[in-house]
Amino acid sequence: MSNTPSTPSRRRFLHTAAVAAVGAPIAFRLLTQPAHAASDKPALPLDNPQAVALGYVEDASKVDAAARPQFKPGSNCNNCNFIQGEPGERVGCMLFPANSVAGAGWCVSWAAKA
Ligand code: SF4
Repeated sequence: MSNTPSTPSRRRFLHTAAVAAVGAPIAFRLLTQPAHAASDKPALPLDNPQAVALGYVEDASKVDAAARPQFKPGSNCNNCNFIQGEPGERVGCMLFPANSVAGAGWCVSWAAKA
């Protein structure tokens, strides 16, 4: 048994060292993982129930504006507030995190980019 008193600063140092030993490999892994581009994700299936419910289409120019009064000419996924990443052919959408959507696509949740 040791007679050395455990001072608060020594305990703090040991705690900090333990946290660093556990956290450093996790942080390294997160920082060195390749970013997955939206185009790497599978395309949103048109029969996806949420996509159907939101009237998602791959080509906004084909939206029936009479049936979809929410549609604003010129709106598409590339200029939607819910896009993730840069505009492109396939883009990420916050509403469909497991899939990519068409940059030229559209759904009723479209909102102008802030
Ligand atoms: S929320 Fe925006 S980015 Fe997502 S599918 Fe609808 S229009 Fe496209």
